[in-house]
Formats: sequence, structure tokens, C-alpha cells
Amino acid sequence: MELPKVRKFAAIMEARTDEEIGGKIRNVHVAEIHEEPMPEMGPKDVMLKMETCQICTTDYQHWLGLREHQGFPMAGGHEWSAIVIAKGSEVHSLNIGDRVGPVHGGCGECINCRRGHSFACTAKSAKRGPVNGFLGARGFANYGVQPETALVKLANDLDPQVAGFIEPIATCVCGMRRLRVQPGETVVIIGAGTMGIANAQVAHAFGARVIISELTPKKLERARSMGFAEVIDATKVDPVEEVMRLTDGYGADAVIAAVGLGVAYKQGYSMLKRVEGRFLLFAAGYPKPEWEIDPNEIHYRRIEIIGTMSGDVADFADAAFMISHRIVDPSYSLESLGKMIPLKDIQKAYIAAATPDAYRVTVDLQNV
Ligand SMILES: [Zn+2]
Ligand SMILES: [Zn+2]
Repeated sequence: MELPKVRKFAAIMEARTDEEIGGKIRNVHVAEIHEEPMPEMGPKDVMLKMETCQICTTDYQHWLGLREHQGFPMAGGHEWSAIVIAKGSEVHSLNIGDRVGPVHGGCGECINCRRGHSFACTAKSAKRGPVNGFLGARGFANYGVQPETALVKLANDLDPQVAGFIEPIATCVCGMRRLRVQPGETVVIIGAGTMGIANAQVAHAFGARVIISELTPKKLERARSMGFAEVIDATKVDPVEEVMRLTDGYGADAVIAAVGLGVAYKQGYSMLKRVEGRFLLFAAGYPKPEWEIDPNEIHYRRIEIIGTMSGDVADFADAAFMISHRIVDPSYSLESLGKMIPLKDIQKAYIAAATPDAYRVTVDLQNV
């Protein structure tokens, strides 16, 4: 097989026009396709034929102009799956034809990597800059080159859309570990969007009783269709009172805020058990959410407020296992299984992803 010499990739450019999206006028950005030479492949690298990439909230909020601090032009994309088409002489764990997903690994040598915190790799954060004039990891591309250590093997019989959910599941596994969820605990998840239901599945896999609180009919229906019996319609009942009722006044051992809204934080916090409740801030919100907390109360009630983002190498390995062995089913987090938007229509894909209440939209990376 002849290997590609160039690749095509999607990038978000600076705003050019205002357009009407979802009934609201916003400062809309443009996503378009660019081309560059394939990166060099070293002995520890593999070449990838990219399959799918989901449009994350990070991506479409950037496209909407809500995350200007991330910079332009941005050739992002971090929720992908791919097939190995070539490998360097020193690659031992992967073979041609393997399906892989990304690992946010580090250098493996700095103090943070050695302690298992690859997310905080000091070498990685030191070398973030534009390549060929574009920022970003090139997830929305038809081909890629990655070091073996930045990849994890996935089952070959997975649907490529499902395989592309490795990174979001890894973030949930990381969050669950940080929250120290134990079997038999009650975990409340605020929000049944893409990451709300992903968190629900991972919390269930960790052995927790899962209660989900949501407002919109589409997401309530999605959560119920997954088989979760305890789904609260927060438009009909007070979710705090309902959690107290469902737990005989005990409250939640842990709450995961899977939406970045001040009202969700306030509500979730009020659901915590009287002593030693744990609260996980899973999502960022733009504009920045407001949340007033009482330090004395945190002290007296021994409350823990925990942040989380992305995952470490071990979280990606476990997420790959959970997806490959169907312990979690990411198809629930997708807008529609079997329906992908071609990479050549990337602007359309962003419009679909930014539509209110949409689950993850998948881009078909070979159709460019
Ligand atoms: Zn993401
Ligand atoms: Zn490192």
C-alpha cells in the first residue's frame, strides 16, 4: 500500500460573519478544510488512517466564539478512532490493521508522568504551539502520525463511531476515581447530555446507584432508554427534594455536575448527604458560572469539592477496556449511530453539533 504524502484537516478560523444559528444571533466562526504534508514518521511512531472524530463541547463552543482563549486557527479534534496502516521499526505493541484511539499520555520521564499524572506532563505543556500555522491536535484529519505511547488499542469489531468515544469515557473514569466512587454509593448526575449519560454509565460500572436529574424531554427520554430507573424530570419536581425522598432523607454520597451552570452547582450541592458528601465539577461553563459557597459549611460538614479534566494514561487504558468489552455503551452519547457527517462538510457538522440539545455529532474522516 502506498502511504499518503499529504493530509487534509479541518480548522476553525477567526470569525468572519454573523449567522443565525438555532434562532440566536451569535458571533459564528468558520470551519474549513486545509492541507499539509504528512508529518515525518519516526521509529517509535505509527501512521493512522483516521476513521471518526466527534465534535466535543470544547470544539463547538470554540467555533461559536465562546472560547477565544484557545486561539486560532484551531485544527482540533480529540475524540477519534483510527486504523494503523504503517509502523516504525521500534513499535512493538501495535500492528497494521489494529484499531486505536488517543491516549493523553506524557513524555513518560518527567516527575508528573513518573507519578502517573500524565495529564500534568511538564514536557508536553512546554511545547504547545502552532505547526504549519495551525494550533491543535489534528483530530479532524484523514491521516495522522502518532507515537505508539499516545495510542491505545480498541476492539476491531467496534463501530468506529463508538470507538471514537474513548477520550470522553477516559475523562469519566478519571472523574470517578477522583470522586472515589465506591460500590453501593448513591451518585447523582446533574444533566443527561453527552457527558451526563457517559458519567452515568461509568458510575454504574463502578458499582454505584445512579440517579439522573435533567430538564429537557429529549435527554430525559435518552436517559430512560438506557435503563436507568431513577431519572428525575426537574421541570416537574424539585430535584433536591426528590433526591432526598429517593434516599430516605440521607442525600447523595456524591454528585457529578455534568453541566457548567451555577444553578446546577447550587442544586447538586444541596443534594449532598449531611456529612462527607463529595461534589465533582465535571464540566466548564461559558460564560463562567457564578457559585457562592460557604467555607464554614464545607468545614463543618466535611464536604469535598473536586475538579476534574481529561484523564491520565491509566484512565485511557481502562476506558479502552470498558468500551471494547461493552461495559459501557457510548452509542447512547451519539446524536445518531450510523449517521456521520463527511469531513468535507465540516461547517455543517459544527452547525449540527452546536444545535441545542444535540448529542455528539460524528465526522466521517475518510469522506473528504
Ligand atoms: Zn472532548
Ligand atoms: Zn511527562
